[in-house]
Amino acid sequence: TAAGIPVDFPTLDLRGRHPGPAELKAAMPRAETTFDVATGAVEAIIKDVRVRGFEALGELAARFDGVAQEHPLVPAGALDEALESLDPAVRAGLEESIARARAFAAAQKPADAAVEIAAGAVVRHKWVPVARVGLYVPGGLAVYPSSVVMNVVPAQAAGVGSLALASPPQKEFGGLPHPTILAAARLLGIDEVYAIGGAQAVAAFAYGIPAGEAGPALEPVDVVTGPGNVYVATAKRLVKSVVGIDAEAGTTEIAILADDSAVPAYVAADLVSQAEHDPHAASVLITPSVALADAVRAELVRQVAATKHTDRVRQALSGPQSGVILVDDLEQGLQVCDAYAAEHLEIQTANAAELAGRVRNAGAVFVGDYSPVSLGDYCAGSNHVLPTSGTATFASGLNVTTFLRAIQVVDYSREALAEVSGHIVALSRAEDLPAHGDAVSVRFSQG
Ligand code: NAD
Repeated sequence: TAAGIPVDFPTLDLRGRHPGPAELKAAMPRAETTFDVATGAVEAIIKDVRVRGFEALGELAARFDGVAQEHPLVPAGALDEALESLDPAVRAGLEESIARARAFAAAQKPADAAVEIAAGAVVRHKWVPVARVGLYVPGGLAVYPSSVVMNVVPAQAAGVGSLALASPPQKEFGGLPHPTILAAARLLGIDEVYAIGGAQAVAAFAYGIPAGEAGPALEPVDVVTGPGNVYVATAKRLVKSVVGIDAEAGTTEIAILADDSAVPAYVAADLVSQAEHDPHAASVLITPSVALADAVRAELVRQVAATKHTDRVRQALSGPQSGVILVDDLEQGLQVCDAYAAEHLEIQTANAAELAGRVRNAGAVFVGDYSPVSLGDYCAGSNHVLPTSGTATFASGLNVTTFLRAIQVVDYSREALAEVSGHIVALSRAEDLPAHGDAVSVRFSQG
């Protein structure tokens, strides 16, 4: 075998054990760098941005991104220039990604409903887009033009009128976000782009910054979306009483449920591909097959040595958040999948489609040998901004409804109100809120 890099891919052996749902959930591998660790630092950043606005942003850009900045708004000329000098192959990739994402987003828009509960008694469920959104595109260890597509396409499909985008300033590009990010924004018709990274971008969007000596105001938004590291995800958690958020789309996770029919080289390649995002990324293999687990381990040693970001990948695979979970059979495997609630769940088994249909908790499910997560990251049509850290038990990936609210509209005629007036009076008395009943009676006791 080729010389490889040792990877401490730990094993959790659940064979012959039957933990209940809560115990199983607690046993799942998770990263040590959690929200608790980041919360103190992120609270301080949010407060600083609220109090000192652009001045605080300038200092944070110097501290975290190593750039000098007076005002973070990217000049329109820089967007045009970035698109003009974009590599044609990257442009073609972005255009394909946009077309597929648009086709899927168009199908997600829910229909309004109007129900005539009784004669003259109409209640409507009406979907309305939010007015303004702040879209975050990461750019620390890697830059993500694909995340521009994933944020912007569903917001536009929802009908949002005002879209602002933020991504970290890059030292080697004169303090602007990476040119591929600017080009992707321009391609999608976005002209309000800010060079702001991390928690400070989320704070600036949530609270807004008034105009000042540094330049024009950054108007607050209604919803903040987008992926990011633990600081970005923690900031979203901390501002969600002020603005809507999509989900805590934090540090990437992949879980793969596989049996003996899986190809070890594919399984290992997919585990490595997500580990490449971040040293805290999670790559988890769930299998009843010791032979497959051994073969994947051998592949990991070989592939980690050959991959570009070897150190980052080795750290991610060796962390407490990654490893193999051995199960009795695929039934227990499915229970583990639901307990873990992965951001990305791949199923590489003989009956992949059947098992995929039974998954309850996951951000997105990738079925069979030819639907790797990398496909979803760029070009599947699905969205790559997905819930992490087990939040897939209650949260959804970014989609058109993230940018919509449903307003309930009540429209009753005089006769229709009269029909239920007695019930309203009785219920209002039962709650000792008689003025509620009076507000109905008054309409029938006069004239
Ligand atoms: P990022 O843009 O998320 O974060 C970079 C910023 O983090 C910096 O500009 C800085 O402001 C801030 N920061 C760094 N260290 C800090 C500290 N000690 N204290 C406070 N703030 C600090 O870029 P990234 O770091 O490359 O992370 C991108 C993340 O996005 C990865 O973890 C990746 O896995 C994740 N991701 C998630 C999804 C999803 O849908 N869940 C999708 C794509 C990417």
